[in-house]
Amino acid sequence: MAYRVTLIPGDGIGPEVASAAQACLDATGVSFEWEVHAAGEGAIAKFGTPLPEPLLESIRRNKVALKGPITTPIGTGFRSVNVGLRHALDLYACVRPCRLYAGVPAHYKKIDLVIVRENSEDLYAGIEYDDGTPEVKELIGWVKAHGGKTIRPDAAISLKPISVTASERVIRYAFEYAVKNNRKKVTAVHKANIMKFTDGLFLEVARRVAGEYSGKVEFEDRLVDNMCMQLVQRPENFDVLVLPNLYGDILSDLCAGLIGGLGVAPGANIGDQTAVFEPVHGSAPKYQGQNKVNPVATILSGVLLLRHLGEEAAADRLDRAVAEVLKEGKEVTYDLKTDRTQPSIGTREMGQAIIRKLKG
Ligand code: NAD
Repeated sequence: MAYRVTLIPGDGIGPEVASAAQACLDATGVSFEWEVHAAGEGAIAKFGTPLPEPLLESIRRNKVALKGPITTPIGTGFRSVNVGLRHALDLYACVRPCRLYAGVPAHYKKIDLVIVRENSEDLYAGIEYDDGTPEVKELIGWVKAHGGKTIRPDAAISLKPISVTASERVIRYAFEYAVKNNRKKVTAVHKANIMKFTDGLFLEVARRVAGEYSGKVEFEDRLVDNMCMQLVQRPENFDVLVLPNLYGDILSDLCAGLIGGLGVAPGANIGDQTAVFEPVHGSAPKYQGQNKVNPVATILSGVLLLRHLGEEAAADRLDRAVAEVLKEGKEVTYDLKTDRTQPSIGTREMGQAIIRKLKG
């Protein structure tokens, strides 16, 4: 029986990388029925919203989606579709495996770590007050009255909620992930020395949950600034990292840099009911329609999708096919060439090279 999967091509380079990943998934021999839905700018014209209800219904029904990146228009009334989708489906854990494949130009020999990012709150909750508004004036007055601290009258304010509920479920997810995937250690990343209540809460919950896994999974914590330095100097020391939303976002890109760039960094957004698989990278509008960018991040997101469906053998085969193409280093896109004047191939062609390995 075919798996029904919602496919969101996205915009910018999204349709190009999504179509390469779709072709690779179809070539594994696992049977898919794709339900294609527009989101972002493509959906606004038809539905008047970048995140139409039929799309959300499709994901709720199918429980699984593959998604290309979506542009967030700056300075319009619409918030990020990506953040909106994660909120609407309560996709609370963002999982980003960072593994260095042989042949990919990078500064390290071995990297194999996994970022688990909280996906629902923190400064991403979207609770913001613009400067000069009556709300921000009231808030500034309230803060002065309740803590005596003065905020400048021309400030804008974003709130950073961190709850026990959201922290606990993502930290527990990270430990369960470690157990299931035979990982040895979870590192909680925070800035609890400065943000004693919010990050302090995250750390306290992490310590409590870690206690339940004692003897099974090692636990440690790091301040986020120190973590950045240690990741650059000794990434091999880390295994599973669990972080609040904003630090998770920033460290995801840092770790993508460690393993050869955004072109090879896959991701998954996981909830209790549904899961959406998408690359870490954005819609890179300047490359739109050029058949130029790397499809591997989206193809490896497809590998994660196969594992989520329990299709481990197909996932292993597709992963091996990607690894072989990367190792040979011939049929790859421009970003994987150390010398960018060397000949490279396009998005579609790299997808086809991976399919040839898969079938060969
Ligand atoms: P981006 O990830 O789109 O691009 C940054 C740079 O990374 C590109 O210029 C390119 O050099 C490189 N890059 C990205 N993907 C690549 C690929 N597949 N192969 C080779 N090189 C690649 O980041 P940005 O320019 O900051 O964001 C562009 C838009 O994407 C924004 O509107 C942003 O909000 C959105 N965005 C969406 C998502 C998502 O859909 N989940 C994630 C991040 C950013």
